[in-house]
Amino acid sequence: MEPSMPVVIQTRGLTRTYSDHGVPVHALNEVDLDVEQGEFTVLVGPSGSGKTTLLNQLGGLDGPTAGKVLVDGVDLGSMKSGKLIEFRLHNIGFVFQAFNLIPVLTARENVEFIMLLQGRDRTERGRRAEELLEQVGLAGMMDRRPRELSGGQQQRVAVARSLASRPRFVLADEPTASLDSAAAADLLDIMERLNGEHRVTFLFSTHDPRVVRRARRVITLQDGRVTGDERTAG
Ligand code: ADP
Ligand code: MG
Repeated sequence: MEPSMPVVIQTRGLTRTYSDHGVPVHALNEVDLDVEQGEFTVLVGPSGSGKTTLLNQLGGLDGPTAGKVLVDGVDLGSMKSGKLIEFRLHNIGFVFQAFNLIPVLTARENVEFIMLLQGRDRTERGRRAEELLEQVGLAGMMDRRPRELSGGQQQRVAVARSLASRPRFVLADEPTASLDSAAAADLLDIMERLNGEHRVTFLFSTHDPRVVRRARRVITLQDGRVTGDERTAG
């Protein structure tokens, strides 16, 4: 990675404390991170270390107890909720462990839907959905509904959908956790290729050492703190 890439995401003193029946749970504790454009970065750490909490904060799905999250220098906490929803729609892509496709829509319609929300016209939506579904290897399956696709194929639709809005970055919380190892490897191949060709910034969490090996930066969380941050050859 060239050192001159712009910083897309910054956290400063990011802290999230939950209350468990009145007992405070420090899920994130003063996390300071910079993520540059084009990164292919994995978050690792034992269950309960704060990975999901961090991804939810970076995606603006939940707000901090203290500290802040900046995207392109803009503090997500400074936005009113309507503005934040709009900002998310245009800037942040999401991939979930359980795929979260809309069951009554085809693969193509699932990918188009976010562009419909963005107000893009029908021709552009159709063209971009086809292009993305081809790129994730689903050219012949665009008119299938999620239940007519394997888990790996559904997750590839979810990756295509996450990119449809042309986001600044994509967050993926354990995207391979529901997949067998061959499907997980395929998904990583696709994400890696999209990262290389389109300079899409990916930040994903995992438990799987085979997935960790594919990342170019490995951030380790433990008890809500960053305890490791290594850049590798990938
Ligand atoms: P990970 O994704 O690494 O497994 P999480 O971010 O889900 O970790 O959880 C971090 C800590 O915060 C854990 O101790 C978890 O029990 C706690 N936690 C997460 N979400 C909530 C919540 N909504 N309410 C209370 N505690 C929570
Ligand atoms: Mg989690």
